Formats: sequence, C-alpha cells, structure tokens
Amino acid sequence: MFTTAATHNKTQSEQVRCLYTVIETELSQAQIQLNITRKRVKNINFRLKPYQLSVSAPYFVSDVDIINALSKRLDWVVNHHTELLKRHQQKQQLGGHHSNTSSKNGLSPIKLWGETQNRVMSEAERLHWYRYELQSVMPELFQKWQPVVGKVANETRIKKMSTRWGSCNTKAKRIWLSVYLPAFPLPCTEYVIVHELCHLHQANHSPAFWHEVKRSMPDYKRWHDMLAGKSGIVD
Ligand SMILES: [Zn+2]
Repeated sequence: MFTTAATHNKTQSEQVRCLYTVIETELSQAQIQLNITRKRVKNINFRLKPYQLSVSAPYFVSDVDIINALSKRLDWVVNHHTELLKRHQQKQQLGGHHSNTSSKNGLSPIKLWGETQNRVMSEAERLHWYRYELQSVMPELFQKWQPVVGKVANETRIKKMSTRWGSCNTKAKRIWLSVYLPAFPLPCTEYVIVHELCHLHQANHSPAFWHEVKRSMPDYKRWHDMLAGKSGIVD
C-alpha cells in the first residue's frame, strides 16, 4: 500500500507519519472520521459506523503498531463503509431509523413531499407530522382519483407500514396508506392511491391490473420507480 523507493531511506518515524497521512487522506476521502482511543482492552478493536471509524487500543501497544494495524485494514474499511452507507441510507429513506449520524452536524435532512425541510425533529415527531400532512391531503386526493379509476373506497386509513406503501382489502374496500409516504413527492402518494383503487378492479397484479393503472395514471411508472426499492413493494 505504501512502498515507494523513497520510503526505504526514511527513518521509521517518518515512514509511520507518511503512512498515517495516507490513511487519513483515504479515510477523509471516504468521509470517514477516525477516532483512536486507548482503553483497558487486550487487542486493537475496530468499530465502523456510518461516517466514523473508532479504534480502541490497549495502553501497551505502540502508535506504530496501531497505524500498521490500521493500514492493513484500510481497504476493508473503505469497501465495507460503502456497503454500510448504502444500507444506512435505505433505512433512513424507509423511515425506520432515528434521524442522526448522517451529515456533518449529526442530523439527516427531513423531507416533506420530496423537499428537504430546514428543521430538526425526533422520529416520533416526524411520524406525527407525516400523519397530519397525509391526513390533510387524503380526502382531496381520493376525490380526485376515484372518478378517474372508477372505483370508490369505503374506508381509508393511515398505517405505520415499513414494508408496504399501501394495501387494499378488496372485500371491505378498505385502503391503507403508509405513514412514510409524505417523505416522497406528492405524486408518489397519488400513485399509491391509484394502485390501491385499481385493486378494486383487479385483486391481483395481472397485466389487466397494470393496464388499469396506466389508463388511470399514464406517468405512474415514474412514481412507482421512485418508491420501488425504498420500501419493498406496493401491494
Ligand atoms: Zn398491488
């Protein structure tokens, strides 16, 4: 990782300083903050979290040994961090995560109808707010889309669903929407309403069903794709 001809002539401490610079540069390029602490532990331990690598080392281990151990782990850390971030971001978009650790000030942006909001709130506050916002647009949106789809729901509700954006009980004609929908642009919620109303025509996901969705909302795919992969399925 750090073997150039020039380094052979350097003293050990110079080499270690260089190595440390390389490690620091690579970590900061990967947006990872490094924290090294001495503890009453037996081994050098690494703990990787989004945007942070914590290293705890025993008191008897030298700085050189810590830096060498770090250097050996560096590739793993950077690669693993990419995976970790991906999962972390998916979780956040899902909403099933406390809003912290994401950006430099320790707070992740809160979105409403796809727009980043300049405010800070707890997960519970966010869900309360989303419920309120969704509740206030739902009657209007159902009134808008029911005549287009040609079906009417008997009952609509907001549910805390983390794996589905909506669901439809076709017998009771009852439609549930996920409380997390207000994180996305409004047409995403409209699409979920259209999707669930179309299940009152077709209970399955047959070509006839998708034909119905497309007839009602020609640009549905854009909104469908925006939600897909964020929280599994629209059922
Ligand atoms: Zn469906």
